[in-house]
Amino acid sequence: MIEYFRTIYRVSKALLQGMAVTGSWLFKPAVTVQFPAEKLTPPERFRGALTFDKETCTACNLCIKACPTACITLEPAADPVTQKRIAKVSWYQIDFGKCNYCRLCEEACPTKPVKSVRHTHQYEWGMAERGEMFVKWKRGSPDPAGKA
Ligand code: SF4
Ligand code: SF4
Repeated sequence: MIEYFRTIYRVSKALLQGMAVTGSWLFKPAVTVQFPAEKLTPPERFRGALTFDKETCTACNLCIKACPTACITLEPAADPVTQKRIAKVSWYQIDFGKCNYCRLCEEACPTKPVKSVRHTHQYEWGMAERGEMFVKWKRGSPDPAGKA
């Protein structure tokens, strides 16, 4: 019999504690953001999608060496006359299926004042197919859509 009333006491206490937490939030302003109609501004160092600037990249390979998931590949450009390698890229590709948004590539990139590979605040993009996750920037071609 005593155990019966003890159980009622324990359950009632837990119920009231739970309701007290609910009650403490009842009159506070709502924090829900009605996305996509409303959007929060990401913090300055937010790591969104990577973008790449094929005009300033020197094909130094430092980003490739820094990347822990080996998701960057590039081909250096060659001088059309001498066929010798020049400090430009022919193409640059990121496999976003393997990228973990760690920023190590951006930190390793030596170009100034703006890094050739860098994170943007872009977070509203998705891919439906594995093939779409390979994003390629090519010299002489327009930049991939939505990746700037
Ligand atoms: S953010 Fe990290 S994982 Fe993604 S490309 Fe850069 S170094 Fe590689
Ligand atoms: S993006 Fe930066 S680190 Fe990577 S190859 Fe180009 S200049 Fe070098």
